[in-house]
Amino acid sequence: MTISKSEQLFSRAQNSIPGGVNSPVRAFKSVGGNPIFLKNARGAYLFDADGNKYIDYINSWGPMILGHAYTPVVEAIQKKAADSTSFGAPTELEVEMAELVKSLVPNVDLVRMVSSGTEACMSALRLARGYTGRNKFIKFEGCYHGHADPFLVKAGSGVATFNIQTVPGVTGGVSNDTLTCAYNDLDAVQQLFAENKGEIAAIIIEPVAGNMGCILPKEGFLEGLRRICTDEGAVLIFDEVMTGFRLAPGGAQERLKIDADLVTYGKVIGAGMPVGAFGGRLEIMKQIAPLGSVYQAGTLSGNPLAMIAGYTLLQELKNNPGIYTELEEKCAYLKAGLQRVLEASGTPFVINQLGSMISVHFSDHPVTDFASAASANNALFNKFFHAMLRRGVYLPPSAYETWFLSNALTQEDLDATIKATEESLKEIL
Ligand SMILES: *Cc1c(COP(=O)(O)O)cnc(C)c1O
Repeated sequence: MTISKSEQLFSRAQNSIPGGVNSPVRAFKSVGGNPIFLKNARGAYLFDADGNKYIDYINSWGPMILGHAYTPVVEAIQKKAADSTSFGAPTELEVEMAELVKSLVPNVDLVRMVSSGTEACMSALRLARGYTGRNKFIKFEGCYHGHADPFLVKAGSGVATFNIQTVPGVTGGVSNDTLTCAYNDLDAVQQLFAENKGEIAAIIIEPVAGNMGCILPKEGFLEGLRRICTDEGAVLIFDEVMTGFRLAPGGAQERLKIDADLVTYGKVIGAGMPVGAFGGRLEIMKQIAPLGSVYQAGTLSGNPLAMIAGYTLLQELKNNPGIYTELEEKCAYLKAGLQRVLEASGTPFVINQLGSMISVHFSDHPVTDFASAASANNALFNKFFHAMLRRGVYLPPSAYETWFLSNALTQEDLDATIKATEESLKEIL
């Protein structure tokens, strides 16, 4: 048996990188097998070190909304690189980027750039705490807000995938201020506020969750959170790292017509470069240094290559709002096709979808929170993942991740995905 290049690279990687990967979910540990090492990508397709081609439903976990190696973005980065890759001093491009974000998200008065979604969320939480003078905050089971200490409590994504209950290194002093309850459970939120009167600085939530598969907010849930935060003087933080600029030009806030007080971004905002951002109402944002004393900083924040990539992508999205209609149509087509072949297979399933986020749970009950996602047949998902991969369809390697569509997908790609699903189900059931 010949050993593939990916296998060779993975065994070599394990000698110098923890687990052979720079981010845990990439390791395929939960779905079993070895990760595939990628070489390049173009449009809707990934190519691995062995020359295999895959239709991509990860899209770098969201940023590649217009497909890989999108020419205007690539050219803008190349041109910008010639002017130096970093200054650590202000540039006009950062002003243009902030103005562009503000034009897309009307309730953002000020926005600060950082280099990851993690940084955006941890900074937004610090700001909410500094602004309210309170320590505690609420997050929802199965939501992921990056890997900063306070968020690693009942977190989604890799933390859920690897079933890590408590993270060594996160002290009780930190995690005791993290209050959690089930997604979509407004009564539980009310209860937490009643039990912690005047102590809760913020609620942070993925307005559409993507780190326990795709899970939609129930009718009235986000509206309820908005009302409670206003009544209790707490800050409502929408973590739009996945949904920002994806569900609509103005993200989930626009799509679901609810205004948060602070919003965090990542993924799409950097077009695949390391970018995050947090922004919101002037009254809160003016507490950030150097305007106020809530300290937050970054040597590479507003990096010119990262900014030009994000700026170019966001500008394309702004100028062509039809992209969102196309994405929605593609996702609806995929959903209908998946529904058809899944029904024919006889296996219980749930498909949750909004805009270009979609996921399949092998579940006989509705999937509305982490518990219902966790009680689906995720062992079957793991088999499904490999069966799809063998047929050239690259899904996220965990049932606790949403799939992201790119607008580079063609009708043929979607048909091939549906056909691969039909064949995979025949193979694994
Ligand atoms: C990916 C993600 C993060 C963390 O972003 P990083 O860039 O990986 O640090 C935070 N929140 C949500 C909702 C995410 O999906």
